[in-house]
Amino acid sequence: ATPTAVMVATGVGANHGVLVKGGDALERAQNVNYVIFDKTGTLTQGKAVVTTAKVFSGMDLGYFLKLVASAEASSEHPLAKAIVEYAFHFHFFGKLPKSKNGIEQRKEEILSRWLLQVEDFSALPGKGVQCLINGKRVLVGNRTLITENGVNVPPEAENFLVDLELNAKTGILVSYDDDFVGLMGITDPLKREAAVVVEGLKKMGVHPVMLTGDNWRTAKAVAKEVGIEDVRAEVMPAGKADVVRSLQKDGSIVAMVGDGINDSPALAAADVGMAIGGGTDIAIEAADYVLVRNNLEDVITAIDLSRKTFSRIR
Ligand code: ADP
Ligand code: MG
Repeated sequence: ATPTAVMVATGVGANHGVLVKGGDALERAQNVNYVIFDKTGTLTQGKAVVTTAKVFSGMDLGYFLKLVASAEASSEHPLAKAIVEYAFHFHFFGKLPKSKNGIEQRKEEILSRWLLQVEDFSALPGKGVQCLINGKRVLVGNRTLITENGVNVPPEAENFLVDLELNAKTGILVSYDDDFVGLMGITDPLKREAAVVVEGLKKMGVHPVMLTGDNWRTAKAVAKEVGIEDVRAEVMPAGKADVVRSLQKDGSIVAMVGDGINDSPALAAADVGMAIGGGTDIAIEAADYVLVRNNLEDVITAIDLSRKTFSRIR
């Protein structure tokens, strides 16, 4: 393609909210064999909502929620935000529906007074959070976090958890003083266009893959809903780029679509990195493309544009 054709294509892309950083990236997209989608925030809306909270010990449900919200209050993770939101609503709005607006406005202030004091907080990427409350260790996170710290999950809780996961929910487990106390189920709905885009890629001869740090059962349930057969789950943040490189080994051209800080190394490692607009700045920096509209249809637009610009004219 001539420099003029590349310039025109770049402009056409920009008009559709598909920003490409340079002619090389524009050219590579035509030959993409794999499109790897991050799950949370890319295939899903990134609007996590707690659907269930269940205590499996003597702890009062209200105190359980307060404990979990306190532990998660310092975390930036979308799941943490959903948990704090749920606990806050459960505690206040159930009791004082009339003054809801005033409470919503003073939320930060009210939260800071309501939450328990937390010491030694640490975020454990791909796993959850850990801290001390009342001098006792509190763990909030996935099964890996809980079990690798030697906390026993009773069979009835395990059954409940499996049931959540089979229904595409992410289960978050909680321990206090190294005793298991309860768990929460969190849902993050798929983007409306996700399944159509996956189907469209298959028709174009492109192989879609789902990549996530979430557990296998939840990942597979979500993948089934969206029509993806190839799933890579329970991948720690540092491992996402390795998945990209493993697919590139046979010479395949790999595109990665992601939104989070976690995704930046994988976006950089991919032949074509596509960052979702509204995602993290670091992801946008690492990518070749920015899909400004936060609409997955633009993955197809980007590949189409490259094919039209290069394939035939060459
Ligand atoms: P993804 O790859 O889907 O973006 P992450 O790597 O951020 O996911 O997290 C993977 C898993 O680790 C989550 O599904 C959750 O089980 C657990 N996790 C991570 N951070 C937190 C947190 N702040 N609170 C609870 N669980 C967490
Ligand atoms: Mg994500």
